[in-house]
Amino acid sequence: MINIADKKKCCGCYACYQVCPKHCITMRPDEEGFYYPHVDEQTCINCGLCEKVCPELDTEKLDNWKIPKVYEAYSKDEEIRIKSTSGGLFSILANQMYDEGAYVGGAVYDEDFKLKLFVSNEREDLNRTRGSKYIQAEVNEVFVQIKDLLNRGEKVFICSNPCQIFALKKFLRKDYPNLYTCDILCKGVPTYKFLKSYLDYQAARYGSKVKSLQFKYKDDKYVWGWLGTKIDFVNGKHYLKYGGEDAFMTAFLRTGFTVRPSCIECHFKDFPRYADISLGDFWGIQNYSNQDTRKGMSLVLVNNPRGQELLEKVSKRLYLAEHSIPEATKGNIHLIQAYDPTPGFSERMRKEFYDDLDKKGFRFVEKKYLTYLYQTKIRKGIQLLKDIINDQSIKSIYHNIKYNLFSKTIIRKGLKSLLLCYRGALISTKPYSKIELNAPLVVGKKRVIGHKVTTRIQLDRYCKLTVNGTFSVNEGSYIWITKSGHLTLDGGFINEGATITCATKVHIGKGANIAREAVIRDYDGHYIEDLNYRTAKPVWIGDNVWVGYRAMILKGVTIGDGSIVAANAVVTKDVPPHSIVAGNPAKIIRTNINWRDFQ
Ligand SMILES: Cc1cc2nc3c(=O)[nH]c(=O)nc-3n(C[C@H](O)[C@H](O)[C@H](O)COP(=O)(O)OP(=O)(O)OC[C@H]3O[C@@H](n4cnc5c(N)ncnc54)[C@H](O)[C@@H]3O)c2cc1C
Ligand code: SF4
Ligand code: SF4
Ligand code: SF4
Repeated sequence: MINIADKKKCCGCYACYQVCPKHCITMRPDEEGFYYPHVDEQTCINCGLCEKVCPELDTEKLDNWKIPKVYEAYSKDEEIRIKSTSGGLFSILANQMYDEGAYVGGAVYDEDFKLKLFVSNEREDLNRTRGSKYIQAEVNEVFVQIKDLLNRGEKVFICSNPCQIFALKKFLRKDYPNLYTCDILCKGVPTYKFLKSYLDYQAARYGSKVKSLQFKYKDDKYVWGWLGTKIDFVNGKHYLKYGGEDAFMTAFLRTGFTVRPSCIECHFKDFPRYADISLGDFWGIQNYSNQDTRKGMSLVLVNNPRGQELLEKVSKRLYLAEHSIPEATKGNIHLIQAYDPTPGFSERMRKEFYDDLDKKGFRFVEKKYLTYLYQTKIRKGIQLLKDIINDQSIKSIYHNIKYNLFSKTIIRKGLKSLLLCYRGALISTKPYSKIELNAPLVVGKKRVIGHKVTTRIQLDRYCKLTVNGTFSVNEGSYIWITKSGHLTLDGGFINEGATITCATKVHIGKGANIAREAVIRDYDGHYIEDLNYRTAKPVWIGDNVWVGYRAMILKGVTIGDGSIVAANAVVTKDVPPHSIVAGNPAKIIRTNINWRDFQ
């Protein structure tokens, strides 16, 4: 018998509810508005069926391809493309299925914007199923309905979240050749409770009932990636806001308070996937394709021969180009990783969030938990300016003017390539040394404004520092370039108390994340009497490398793109790209990894 001891272990798929032969399970919303099963123990016969179909209890992967085929794709029909969330793939597949007389399943709003899973063979319903709705869809009896259709020999095509697709497969307990499944790449599902309070607030504000609601709204002006929320009201008024400034989307994308607890530990990610075909947004495609993405671009994963068959059927109606898994995961972490809530998120805060929503209402919650997250660019700019001003001294202001306007040692390319010194920044340049700025260099930035600590950059005679991408040398760090060394910084930061010593060549690639008290040195400083011994050997750190706390990278080492050096590791040998090294001396502990900044 199902017993929900930990809410993170129930994705709310309704499979248990639908399978119970005694109908003794009811689905009831909790205080957050998410539905959970409740068993009437009096009528339960302990048959165990509910446990058998639960996708959270048995998480074995299906027989799909471990390495799916990856495509960028969009509908050649411009209207479908623009009206859809991504590239319109769902509508193209659904239309094909309607052509074949199939039933098509998806999520539709009811008149109160509650979301329900729904299946029909009426093409007009496509207008309702199309588009992402960022709340959890109630399944109710749709699996039973689908099973009935399949047993009657009808063809069914269904698109939903991975957990619901897996639950459907478990509920059916056998493979139906007339069933075609599609799952969406899924960050998580928010609760209807929060959507309702948001919509009620908007309705009161605009003095009218809500007529329609669109997330990730697109048109000729508002392009894919803008993530706007559009609400049309019955009185003809409209609300349209960029996702980063809209309370509902901010709560969904950036807090973790509104998504179902199971999404925070979701194990329906990674490969193989559960459906025949998977659809998402191809975020980051601009790095690998020159297609115009403004009207939307889909990421398509083909997970098995049935998915392949589906895609082939519609390929003439699509633009399609093949890509690789790393290209897909790079911009879309939710393909492989569960929702990672905002730093500072806690169960206690989540509880407070819902208590406040119940007792004090939407506006209070928005102000308390969300407003600071969607500050406008202007507000952020003002805040940055305030921080800069607060962390300046007369000396640093004098230095900023001197270095940027009158220094012959500092060569700046263009107006933006500034050297910005905070209080406590010391730049020491000996004759014939040079700082070449092709991008801004920030020195002495602090976590605690006013913290008294020096941040030093020291260039001895004939030494050179080149900055090619915005770089921040945070408080208490020390860069020493000596013996005609040349340090190149392509972009990123070194954190508090890190040191770089460069006596020949040190290169740090784009997107560097060098943690506190890390040490990078191409120079030993002393000499061992041995013919083969070299005091200094160049260090090369590739793009997007994360060097952990107190790690040490020693002379002669090359670190490949996308790698991670674990905390306290001492790196004496080369590190291949996309690997993790740890220990002293550092050894490879994982390969083929991709990492990213906090999402
Ligand atoms: C809650 C949610 C989270 C998502 N997270 C990501 C993400 O992190 N990364 C990413 O790349 N893509 C994500 N997507 C998928 C993306 O937004 C598009 O839905 C997908 O790319 C398909 O777009 P399309 O243009 O082909 O079709 P669309 O016309 O947008 O069709 C969307 C399909 O999804 C179904 N659907 C819509 N809302 C729901 C829902 N709440 N529950 C179940 N089914 C639903 C519709 O019925 C339809 O079948 C998410 C979608 C949802 C609903
Ligand atoms: S054990 Fe059987 S009867 Fe009891 S709740 Fe589960 S499915 Fe229903
Ligand atoms: S995950 Fe689905 S089957 Fe399992 S307990 Fe929750 S609602 Fe029931
Ligand atoms: S994140 Fe995982 S658990 Fe949550 S709805 Fe999506 S697939 Fe289901």
